[in-house]
Amino acid sequence: MDLQQRPLKLHFIPYLSPGHVIPLCGIATLFASRGQHVTVITTPYYAQILRKSSPSLQLHVVDFPAKDVGLPDGVEIKSAVTDLADTAKFYQAAMLLRRPISHFMDQHPPDCIVADTMYSWADDVANNLRIPRLAFNGYPLFSGAAMKCVISHPELHSDTGPFVIPDFPHRVTMPSRPPKMATAFMDHLLKIELKSHGLIVNSFAELDGEECIQHYEKSTGHKAWHLGPACLVGKRDQERGEKSVVSQNECLTWLDPKPTNSVVYVSFGSVCHFPDKQLYEIACALEQSGKSFIWIVPEKKGKEYENESEEEKEKWLPKGFEERNREKGMIVKGWAPQLLILAHPAVGGFLSHCGWNSSLEAVTAGVPMITWPVMADQFYNEKLITEVRGIGVEVGATEWRLVGYGEREKLVTRDTIETAIKRLMGGGDEAQNIRRRSEELAEKAKQSLQEGGSSHNRLTTLIADLMRLRDSKSAT
Ligand code: UDP
Repeated sequence: MDLQQRPLKLHFIPYLSPGHVIPLCGIATLFASRGQHVTVITTPYYAQILRKSSPSLQLHVVDFPAKDVGLPDGVEIKSAVTDLADTAKFYQAAMLLRRPISHFMDQHPPDCIVADTMYSWADDVANNLRIPRLAFNGYPLFSGAAMKCVISHPELHSDTGPFVIPDFPHRVTMPSRPPKMATAFMDHLLKIELKSHGLIVNSFAELDGEECIQHYEKSTGHKAWHLGPACLVGKRDQERGEKSVVSQNECLTWLDPKPTNSVVYVSFGSVCHFPDKQLYEIACALEQSGKSFIWIVPEKKGKEYENESEEEKEKWLPKGFEERNREKGMIVKGWAPQLLILAHPAVGGFLSHCGWNSSLEAVTAGVPMITWPVMADQFYNEKLITEVRGIGVEVGATEWRLVGYGEREKLVTRDTIETAIKRLMGGGDEAQNIRRRSEELAEKAKQSLQEGGSSHNRLTTLIADLMRLRDSKSAT
């Protein structure tokens, strides 16, 4: 066989959170669809989901050392931990994965490692094997580049209130300052990213924009590879990330009779847990808006919805809410088939925390957003969606919070949420323009993965680049 044609052997190591596993396995599937040998290294929980959702991927399973760090046995996904102490333990356990994964790599050395930047140790592992490492961080380049600008201006943190991102290709006004601790952690991740051979981005060039890509590559000297959107890989009705508590049929039966663009889908991803009083405001806003809705309320440690007393329930849901809204609304207490819901023509708006996967899933489905960022990259993602691409309206959230750092101080009120819902779902000129831009961008997203599209071409170039590296190494 011609050396150039020999498939690459790639090992992917996704971080153990649905928001990281889902997109990186989508990217891994793209490599596999081009005939490359892909192995995903993961833990038993994700292995059972991936066996069904991503049959083209080989899996290598390592145990998650929950007990070694004092977490209950069986905790293997980040969304299962909601307080600061357990979040720190979870991270510590993820660091301990270095040993079994290095052992596997020594026995089965790949040509390239594709690792989440949360695994800082992956850099050493790749260096020891003298192979390239590609980094993955889960957010768009726009947000990574914006964070970099913010990090390199420490004076920004000595003040409060809104600010314009300095030295950035777009004039973007942020509503408030990120917490110092969050910026310090992002700085740490960025350093790991910049030591890699390149950055894999789950987005497409037309969404981040060429000006942003050039800005990142020029200011860092680092290469970014836009290969997404990963959510367009595979079928929309696959189970992903976690097991759904509601069947696809139930969702479709509920959505099918609803008019086009009449339903608001409300979900804040896998790790954001709002306090009861904020959930209460959301419930009131949905009812006041008069719009139909599907509202996902994730399970939270210590909160078991099934056995909840009326008194407990009324802390987060107004009395009689479910009975009054039986026709208009569907509340899902747990995990829902998000891709399937977003793809339904009845869904006309997505009230979201702007997690990057959710945002990209909305973009590819052509569903405009009502943005409500909560932490990390979400505040930057919001700006890409609203101010830069014009495919959403802001709810007006200003409070950045780290997972587990106490209750949020500021409530987003029912009236504010209702206003944003009506702005997008009301059908006025602004809403129609947003909807038109969303549909155009969805079309570009699909084209990017087709033969000759921007992401398709980048993947071709990246595979050729990695093959060249491998072959030059074996020639020495
Ligand atoms: N998701 C889902 N069903 C749910 C909640 C989330 O399928 O009920 C998926 C969603 O489609 C997305 C991922 O989980 O792919 C969440 O990732 P995102 O980056 O949006 O947010 P995070 O959970 O990381 O905050």
